[in-house]
Amino acid sequence: MKNIVILGSTGSIGKQTVEVVKNNPQKFKVLGLSGRSNFELVAEQAQELKVAAVAMSDPIAAKKVKALLRDTAIRIFEGMAGLEELIALADTHLVVNALVGSAGLLPTLRAIGESKDLALANKESLVVGGDLVIPLIKEKGTSLIPIDSEHSAIFQCLTGEDRSAIRRIILTGSGGPFRGKEKSELEHVRVEEALAHPRWKMGRKITVDSATLMNKGLEVIEAHYLFGISYDQIDVIIHPESILHSMVEFHDGSIKAHLGFTDMRIPIQYALTYPDRFPSSLVGLDFLQLERLSFEAPDRETFPCLSLAFEAGRRGGTYPAILNAANEEAVAAFLQGEIGFLFISKVVYEVMLRYEPSVKRVDFSLLQEAENWARNEARSIIETKR
Ligand code: NAD
Ligand code: MG
Repeated sequence: MKNIVILGSTGSIGKQTVEVVKNNPQKFKVLGLSGRSNFELVAEQAQELKVAAVAMSDPIAAKKVKALLRDTAIRIFEGMAGLEELIALADTHLVVNALVGSAGLLPTLRAIGESKDLALANKESLVVGGDLVIPLIKEKGTSLIPIDSEHSAIFQCLTGEDRSAIRRIILTGSGGPFRGKEKSELEHVRVEEALAHPRWKMGRKITVDSATLMNKGLEVIEAHYLFGISYDQIDVIIHPESILHSMVEFHDGSIKAHLGFTDMRIPIQYALTYPDRFPSSLVGLDFLQLERLSFEAPDRETFPCLSLAFEAGRRGGTYPAILNAANEEAVAAFLQGEIGFLFISKVVYEVMLRYEPSVKRVDFSLLQEAENWARNEARSIIETKR
């Protein structure tokens, strides 16, 4: 029996993690759950899974959960400190981080610090704090298993392989809802159009990131840290059918690919069962039903966020944190109808241009300082658009 804690159980990945757990009741026991404001769902999940504790980031939501669960022995924690208490629950083996945004970094560091294994969906943890997360994983000797489908694919392709034999990694992406469009056609796209992803049903932030190709850019940085490879060894290729989830080319010319149906429950279950594979009712592929698998180069002109992310990654230090914070602010502004779609990449570009880093070596407080600066700059640029 593996004891797990799910951070962000009310989100898209969180809910699918709960589903995977419910399908394997003899194998997993959920000890704790967390949410931000959806207290009704957290209370329902907590009772169904008979957890020991829940954490709500929003203090008002915490009070509401407390009221709903008053007849149970379930402990209620609140705020970031509550999330840390939840992570530290003594019998936990594995923490699933399904939070969105750079708010996920501290919980990632806490989970590893407590010597728990980590199943990581929150790619922003690695983008912002990869220089802190990876050395801590090595120091504590814990496992970091990616949930992001491309990284799960690469992780599986690398099982049993010597990482020094990697020639390059080929990250695939669907291209998002605006693949093939010209810049002029994207000037006035509506929020609903950006949220209509052709292949994956995901949270709002990552769905907009998929439309700008920032998601692929963040995944490049995520891959750099996870697999310890240079940016020159990472290629991005657009594969609209999303059947092939990424590839690794080795220095003898062999290429391993990971294929499968587009269903996040497959990489989620793998991260939960690693290093084992448990049976599931999820379908494989009927190759005869596949019309074709196609590939094309990403359009870096129309979707500049991909190149911006490569640039931030190569510069290293606090640059990826700057890129990410500016993007989080710009995406939030787009979702609120404050700026147009094309302005998202402009905000990120402008913030990166204005940035003058003082030091290269990062620590947590320096990252926070850099992020706060980038958020303020981004907001002031967004203001000019109002
Ligand atoms: P989501 O918005 O659906 O869910 C986010 C969860 O985090 C919710 O439970 C929410 O309550 C909680 N949360 C949000 N902000 C918080 C904060 N400041 N403090 C504490 N809790 C907070 O997001 P999602 O689509 O499930 O994505 C989660 C992560 O997984 C992201 O990093 C995303 O990039 C990554 N990911 C998602 C998918 C997918 O299919 N959804 C695929 C690959 C990777
Ligand atoms: Mg992905």
